[in-house]
Amino acid sequence: MVGLPALSLGRRRSRTCLHSRSRRRLSRASLRVVDPTELDRLIALGEAQSVEFKKSLAQLDDGLCSLCGMVNADASHGTILFGVTDKGVTVGVEDANLDRSQKKISTKGKKFDPPLRLDIRVCRRDDKAVIVVRAERGSPDIHEYDGRAYVREGAATRRLRVEERRQLTRRRRRDEHSPQFGQWVCDRCGALSTSVKWRLSSRAGVVSKDVDYGHECGGEFWPA
Ligand SMILES: [Zn+2]
Repeated sequence: MVGLPALSLGRRRSRTCLHSRSRRRLSRASLRVVDPTELDRLIALGEAQSVEFKKSLAQLDDGLCSLCGMVNADASHGTILFGVTDKGVTVGVEDANLDRSQKKISTKGKKFDPPLRLDIRVCRRDDKAVIVVRAERGSPDIHEYDGRAYVREGAATRRLRVEERRQLTRRRRRDEHSPQFGQWVCDRCGALSTSVKWRLSSRAGVVSKDVDYGHECGGEFWPA
């Protein structure tokens, strides 16, 4: 078993990307071009919590299930590369008609609930085209793809159980609260606090807010 990074991390800490609004604004254009060096970087990273390779668009449903799992995980965003084997070899998508491919992806993309804005781009190299599909969670609610909710664990995707889903939704809603304000209560000892611990951190130029909901008794703070 790969462990439970997606769910266990959420127990104590949440990371809120402060740049998410501007990134969403940037992602409005459709079928933009990806710089080949950016593609190289993504492929070199390999399959991970937030990246998956799919050899062809025949695996579109699989890819979008994984994307669903990625946005539901703590990372809250994901990237799927179509036209790359799971070993990281660029083979290109089979359909050279990229408009048609994009339409196909957009149509399937309507199966996300709550809706997910897909950022679809293409990278051409030699005669091969790789389609890069990105998405970022836009709601504290758990996203479903085609009526089912998924979560990413390491580089694997699995369905979310009902109880997990309830827990995750509760945690995501807690993340909507400001750590500095309001009334917080510990679920173990009942201690009250007007704030929970948090700090700003910067990773790869992206500023995030790390929140620690833990109380010294081993319990967790929740909005009172
Ligand atoms: Zn406590």
